[in-house]
Amino acid sequence: MTVHHTAAVLDSNRKAPARARAHQRYHMDDRGWIDLAYHFLVDANGHVLEGRPLGAVGDTGTNYDPTGHFLVCAEGDFNQQAIPAAQVAAIADVLAWGAVTFGVPASTIRGHRDWASTSCPGDGFYPLIKEGSLQAAVETRMAAGAPSLSVLCGDAAISRVADIEAGLI
Ligand SMILES: [Zn+2]
Repeated sequence: MTVHHTAAVLDSNRKAPARARAHQRYHMDDRGWIDLAYHFLVDANGHVLEGRPLGAVGDTGTNYDPTGHFLVCAEGDFNQQAIPAAQVAAIADVLAWGAVTFGVPASTIRGHRDWASTSCPGDGFYPLIKEGSLQAAVETRMAAGAPSLSVLCGDAAISRVADIEAGLI
């Protein structure tokens, strides 16, 4: 399970949905990939967006093979900003869900920089991975029963995104 950041400073979470669409467009139109490089994208307030389908291998512009990796990306640049607690908590939820769903231990959590020459996921986030606090948070969730992720589609999804863009949630 490999954790990334987008390396783009997010100054307001109201911009997160537009930013997610921009990342997806960039990865598809400019990079030529099938979808956003990652399986999940988590915004500053802890909203989780689906990226590419879970059955599809991720993509990377760096030199590692993401085959078999469960890819979770945090919106923001954690070389330049601190990672909010709500974002870390949601990332832990997604990783716990992934660990249980795919039967892999939380000890497989790594940062992108563990695989390739990159500062991703940033100096403000990577210590949580390196020092094990993210793994511990994931293990606590797994011990309590894996979090369930409820998928919103159609009007429910449109309404949720509108609330994020309005700064209500
Ligand atoms: Zn990365």
